Amino acid sequence: MVDSDTAPRHIRSIVIAGGGTAGWMAAVALSRTIAPHRCAITLIESETIGTIGVGEATIPPILSFNQIIGLGEAEFVQATKATFKLGIEFAGWRNRGHRYFHPFGRYGNDFAGTNFHQHWLRAQSLGDTTPFGDFSLNEKAAYSGKMGKLDSDPRSVFSTFSYAYHFDAALYAQHLRSMAEQRGVVRREGLIEDVVLNGESGHIEGLRLDDGGLVEGDLFIDCTGLRSLLLGEALGVPFVDWTHYLPCNRALAVPTDSIDLDRPYTRSTAHEAGWQWRIPLQHRMGNGMVYSAAFWSDDQAHDALMANLEGKPLADPRPIRFTTGRRAQSWAKNCVAIGLSAGFLEPLESTSIHLIQIAVAKLLNWFPDLDFDPMTMGEFNRQIINEYDRIRDFLVLHYHANARHDDAFWRHCATQPIPDTLAEKIAMFRRTGRLLSRESDLFQDASWLAVMLGQGIMPHGHDPLTESLRPTDLDKLLRGMRQLIAKAADAMPTQRTHLAQMGQAPRQMALG
Ligand SMILES: Cc1cc2nc3c(=O)[nH]c(=O)nc-3n(C[C@H](O)[C@H](O)[C@H](O)COP(=O)(O)OP(=O)(O)OC[C@H]3O[C@@H](n4cnc5c(N)ncnc54)[C@H](O)[C@@H]3O)c2cc1C
Repeated sequence: MVDSDTAPRHIRSIVIAGGGTAGWMAAVALSRTIAPHRCAITLIESETIGTIGVGEATIPPILSFNQIIGLGEAEFVQATKATFKLGIEFAGWRNRGHRYFHPFGRYGNDFAGTNFHQHWLRAQSLGDTTPFGDFSLNEKAAYSGKMGKLDSDPRSVFSTFSYAYHFDAALYAQHLRSMAEQRGVVRREGLIEDVVLNGESGHIEGLRLDDGGLVEGDLFIDCTGLRSLLLGEALGVPFVDWTHYLPCNRALAVPTDSIDLDRPYTRSTAHEAGWQWRIPLQHRMGNGMVYSAAFWSDDQAHDALMANLEGKPLADPRPIRFTTGRRAQSWAKNCVAIGLSAGFLEPLESTSIHLIQIAVAKLLNWFPDLDFDPMTMGEFNRQIINEYDRIRDFLVLHYHANARHDDAFWRHCATQPIPDTLAEKIAMFRRTGRLLSRESDLFQDASWLAVMLGQGIMPHGHDPLTESLRPTDLDKLLRGMRQLIAKAADAMPTQRTHLAQMGQAPRQMALG
């Protein structure tokens, strides 16, 4: 018999405040795991406020999120007008005229017990000039407009391949909404006017809507976007501001009518005081300028964006203001913030949707009962903080290691202090070619290598164990690997063909 004094007191109702990408991702994932008869899930959103309306590029873990919630790839690609993303091209980031590619997937294959890149570094020291990117199947495929299938067999060159998507965020939220509603989530339209707190515990008791109704719950998920209405405003959890590390704080977003299926990647182009994104979808192009208001006026950013667009704008550029950073905790009392309400690290490496996915997964891992155990909440917060901090370091690297000495903004980025964790990582790489890895490092060695080398950080040394291979054998191995990758990329279908095989007829294809 269960003693009623010690039996866990289950959460019986969850209230999600906000219906952007974060709100609906949380709703679908929770409704997939928690049976509706055990716990009611209500989502409140306000059409008068709307969503932030950006967030169209992703990273590979989105595939597993879709899989977990039972959303098949063909259905997803059709519903969200998605295209494939094999990585990001960084144009003008190291200096004007220079470009490099950050591919998803790995470079080459490790051999002779040593990391692949260490052999490449040694070959370079012996006079080889083969670009590192020649050993990335993703990069080769991306620059030839190709798209392939994943293969987990480590003997296959395709085991080094990986991809994510570009998609229409509004269509994704719509699709998730219909999935969540089918699983019993109740959507309530309304403006949250007040957050009602318990006078003793400080926990949230309910959300007062503009129609006077009170929506009560046991657990509240704050998905109200940058405003952080519950966690930030009502519970007063402070914001940790990282503007001194990541100085961009404004964006202008504008879609154009251009279609480009030949470049299955995001492009990020550096400008005088920020950078421009270009995200190709099936039916339009997503564009925007991210910049620092301390170095550029809104008009300067607007003019630079409009002068560098492909295709006709479909709307006026929409201004967005933000501050980079995160909340000191994502979980306080009976409220967990997910999405922009928990923090925002600017869109440079498309990590925000991933952070939503991570927060939802961790909430399910550390799901509370009505006692809201402080140790559980503490561990959740520690892990989330780690995720943000590691991504922050990776983003800062892009800005810090630049040689654009002519631009005040870029000089500022190069000379500002950087986090110690990043400084150590750069110093170790510069000296030895080795990469320090840390807990919760979302970005693996291949990503760090792409950006370190791409931004011009070339190690002085390499792993001494690579010396056991004779230079002629090393040369032969590298040449063989490079040829194999080139051949594999050649044999892949184009993204156009791949989409057609999935039953998709993007606008350009349909028009012939
Ligand atoms: C310029 C820019 C570019 C970006 N690009 C990318 C990218 O390429 N990839 C990526 O992963 N991420 C990107 N992001 C981040 C991404 O847009 C967000 O992570 C994602 O859209 C989730 O937002 P959200 O759901 O947290 O907030 P929002 O979309 O802002 O949703 C907030 C919700 O809360 C509701 N709400 C707010 N207040 C109230 C209230 N008082 N009453 C009722 N409802 C309320 C709103 O109606 C809305 O439904 C970008 C962000 C910016 C600023």
